[in-house]
Amino acid sequence: MFKMKFFLSFIFRFLLPLRAACCWTRRKCFQAEAGILQWLQRHREKFVFYVHHIWAIFILFLIGVIFVYELWYVLPMLADTQGIWHKLNWLLGIYIVFNILGNWWLAFESNTSVESLSLKRQLPEPGEAHLWHYCPTCQKFVPPRSWHCRLCNTCILKRDHHCIITGNCIGHNNQRYFLAFLFHLTFGCGVALVYNVMLSWKNNAFIVAEPILVVGQDYSQDPDLNWKILIATLVKLNFFLFMVPLLMFVFQMVMVHRNSSCYMMLDRSYDVGWRRNFDIVLGKRRFWVFLSPTVASPLPNDGAQWIQKQFV
Ligand SMILES: [Zn+2]
Ligand SMILES: [Zn+2]
Repeated sequence: MFKMKFFLSFIFRFLLPLRAACCWTRRKCFQAEAGILQWLQRHREKFVFYVHHIWAIFILFLIGVIFVYELWYVLPMLADTQGIWHKLNWLLGIYIVFNILGNWWLAFESNTSVESLSLKRQLPEPGEAHLWHYCPTCQKFVPPRSWHCRLCNTCILKRDHHCIITGNCIGHNNQRYFLAFLFHLTFGCGVALVYNVMLSWKNNAFIVAEPILVVGQDYSQDPDLNWKILIATLVKLNFFLFMVPLLMFVFQMVMVHRNSSCYMMLDRSYDVGWRRNFDIVLGKRRFWVFLSPTVASPLPNDGAQWIQKQFV
C-alpha cells in the first residue's frame, strides 16, 4: 500500500509535470521553427546576402592571417630564408591557397540546380516518370535525388546540403570542388600546425605555457614568457582549426563512399560499390581532382538518372 502511494505520488509530482513541460517545449520549438521558416521565406534574399558575405569575409580573413603569419613570421624562424626549404615551403603555401580559393570559387560558381540540365532532360524519359517527384514550390516534376532548397529557391540535383561558406548548394555538379576545398583547408591547417608545433617546441613554449609541466622550476622570470604563452596558445587554436575541416572532410568522404547525401544520410539505396560511388562524385579522374581545381574530370551522369542498388 505504501509502495503504491509512493508510486502514484511520484507520477503526479514528477512525471506528469515533466511530460507537460516536454510537450510545452516541443510545441514552442515547432512554433519557433515555423516562425523562422516564415521569416526566411519573407527575407530570403537579405538573409542569403548577409550570411554568405559575412562567412566569405571571415574565411578569407582567416586564410590571409594564417598565410601571412606562417610564411612571413614563423617560417623564417624555422628555416634559413636563403635556403631551398624556405622556398619550397613558400611554394607549398601558395599551392594550398590556390587550391582552397580555386575550389571555393568553382563550388560557388557551379550551377547544380535542375535548371542546369538541358530542356529535354528536365522532363522524364519514357518509363522514368514514376521515379520523378513533384516540387510544389517549383511547380514541376524533378529527377530522383533532387530536393528543393529554400535559400537557393530552386531544386538541386542530388542535393547534399546548402553551404553558407561557399554560398551555394552542394549537389551533383559541385561536390567535387567542395571536397577538394575541405581537403586543402585541412591540409593547409595541418601544415600550419606543424610549423606552430615546431616553433613552440624549439622555444620550450609548451613547458612555459603548461603550468602542469613546470615541476620545481620558476619560469615566471622568463623575459619571453608572454610570447611563449602566446605561441603555445596558437598551437591549440590551430589544432581546433585543423580538426573542424578534417571532420567535415571525413564525414563527406563517408557519405560519398556509400553514395548517400547529408540530406538523406541513411539512404543507401544508391550504393553501387565504392569505386563507382566515388566516380559519380569525383568524375573520370577520381582522386586526381584533389591535385588542382583545373583537372578536368567529367561526371558519368548528368544527375537526372540514378541506378538503384537492387538493380545492379
Ligand atoms: Zn523545387
Ligand atoms: Zn541552397
